[in-house]
Amino acid sequence: MAAACIFCKIIKGEIPSMKLFESDKTFAFLDINPLSKGHALVIPKHHGEKLTDIPDDSLAELLPVAKKIALAAGAENFNILQNNGRIAHQVVDHVHVHMIPKPNETEGLG
Ligand code: 5GP
Ligand code: ZN
Repeated sequence: MAAACIFCKIIKGEIPSMKLFESDKTFAFLDINPLSKGHALVIPKHHGEKLTDIPDDSLAELLPVAKKIALAAGAENFNILQNNGRIAHQVVDHVHVHMIPKPNETEGLG
């Protein structure tokens, strides 16, 4: 845990979130600024800035949980995205996997 990290605060419940999943190693919640309805973030509880900072056993559940959430959301089309570093568009310095449903063009954000 890193005291100043937004996502560590979300894991601890110090910042509210729409929680989707929690296990001993993993936490998932809705993105506050969704690119589409159901945009979720899946994060390891182990704090680390980039994928390369985190031990493999803390990463193992990230894709399976993203898959579970996509299935539960009925997302037939979706993107998985994982940014590392500013140039790669990472804004929050705690490893996270985005699960972004890709709705039909007619559905929009609704
Ligand atoms: P990045 O660009 O670092 O891959 O994406 C960070 C994501 O975290 C963004 O999509 C942003 O909307 C989301 N985010 C930032 N702060 C918060 C927050 O306090 N709560 C939630 N639920 N999402 C956040
Ligand atoms: Zn953190």
